[in-house]
Amino acid sequence: MKGCVYLKTNVIEDLCIGCALCPSLSPDLYKMNENDKAVALKKDDLSANEAIEANEAADSCPSGAIEVTG
Ligand code: SF4
Repeated sequence: MKGCVYLKTNVIEDLCIGCALCPSLSPDLYKMNENDKAVALKKDDLSANEAIEANEAADSCPSGAIEVTG
């Protein structure tokens, strides 16, 4: 994955529909808050494995609410 590692992830709360998929895929990176919206637990300095997980969560999110950026 050299050259393909992204370093940051975030959830755009307004876009999250509360499906709870991302915490089930990546419980170390995302959790649901008291409003049934996902939040990122670790936003910066993702490891290579965490970046892969974040990309998978972003690809799986039905509403496009998960950002993964360099
Ligand atoms: S997968 Fe997307 S819509 Fe579902 S809880 Fe996570 S951010 Fe929200």
